[in-house]
Amino acid sequence: MKCSIHPDRDAIGACLSCGRLVCPECKVSAANQIYCNPCIETRLKTGSWPAVPAGGYNTSGTGSTADVPAEIRGWNWGGFLLTWIWGIGNNVWISLLALLSFIPYIGWIIGLTMRIILGIKGNEWAWRSKKWDSVDHFKQVQRKWTWWGIAGLAALIILVLAVAVLLFSLFMIASYLGIDKNMNLEEFFPKL
Ligand SMILES: [Zn+2]
Ligand SMILES: [Zn+2]
Repeated sequence: MKCSIHPDRDAIGACLSCGRLVCPECKVSAANQIYCNPCIETRLKTGSWPAVPAGGYNTSGTGSTADVPAEIRGWNWGGFLLTWIWGIGNNVWISLLALLSFIPYIGWIIGLTMRIILGIKGNEWAWRSKKWDSVDHFKQVQRKWTWWGIAGLAALIILVLAVAVLLFSLFMIASYLGIDKNMNLEEFFPKL
């Protein structure tokens, strides 16, 4: 566990007032209890303990050991559907491994695995690697990614259907005209 104020230092305890993790520099001991420097400062200046923001302190963007708020745990559809595109937008660079899905034969296994991992770990990784204004801000942005993911998927399905309809139409026209693949097309089309 790392200090909530200095993400590069190890924590040695938690503040009794706000719950933030403290390193030796942030720690203030009083009456055999541990407090943090900011809390003691506020207490001395105002005579009361500071209010803890709803949802706790914002730990986003403080690295791989940051606490992840319970509200944002869960499946990330944006990461699952958009993989590396979502990763670039959320500073989750490991998602670029999804680009390996272009490797013939085995690529799809890597791609599918990465999709599932990003679905499971996406929220956690995005919270830790990027600074967000709040949990609500994070959720709002991730919701937009979900919609973009769904829109992208819908566009892909429409494209595939359009190509299928086109090929089917060409096949029907060809069979109506009596063209088959063994036919010499020069016979069919009168010479110009
Ligand atoms: Zn405190
Ligand atoms: Zn500290």
